[in-house]
Amino acid sequence: MRADDCIFCKIANGEIPSATLYEDEDFRVILDLGPASKGHALILPKEHAANLYELPDELAARAMVVAKKVASVLKDGLKCDGMNIVQNNGEPAGQTVFHFHMHLIPRYKGDSEHVRVTWDPGKLTEEDKQELLGLFS
Ligand code: 5GP
Ligand code: ZN
Repeated sequence: MRADDCIFCKIANGEIPSATLYEDEDFRVILDLGPASKGHALILPKEHAANLYELPDELAARAMVVAKKVASVLKDGLKCDGMNIVQNNGEPAGQTVFHFHMHLIPRYKGDSEHVRVTWDPGKLTEEDKQELLGLFS
């Protein structure tokens, strides 16, 4: 299933050309047009899901296998020093394209001046901990 007016549906299904690193029946992995670093790639399912919550379990599981495969080739080929896997859901989380995708961001020593995948650590309160544990009990 694809959504009309979804640019990643069109790219994933080959209607819009892209620099494709990897493709199988369910996924296309492309180079990001605005890379955070050399090798920044996006894993796109061919089926439309706006975000992780909508993604079928089987595709969610397979996305991580594709991530492992492509990240390994990037790591060996680019000799990068690290790799961030980022997946944004919702505007406040930084999602700008509302078709599920995973970012593979190769990291290089000393790149943190212009590549930031980080936050200021807070402190886990007892109240929050109890509330959160309660969600799963
Ligand atoms: P998000 O912010 O939704 O997690 O990530 C969207 C990503 O898609 C951004 O890193 C952006 O640079 C990339 N992007 C947006 N439009 C296009 C496009 O048409 N082609 C490619 N290859 N990347 C795109
Ligand atoms: Zn789509």
